[in-house]
Amino acid sequence: MTKYICFYCHREISWKEVEKIRCPYCGGKVFFKARPKIVKRIKAI
Ligand SMILES: [Zn+2]
Repeated sequence: MTKYICFYCHREISWKEVEKIRCPYCGGKVFFKARPKIVKRIKAI
C-alpha cells in the first residue's frame, strides 16, 4: 500500500485521507508519496 506524507506536518496519511485532499492533522493540501525504504548500497565484499 502506498502511504502519503503531509508536506507541512510530515505525518503519514492514509489514502482515505488523501482522497479528501486534506490533512487530518494540519489541514494541509500538499502531499507526497512516502517511498519505501530504498537503500541502494552495494556491498563490496
Ligand atoms: Zn499535515
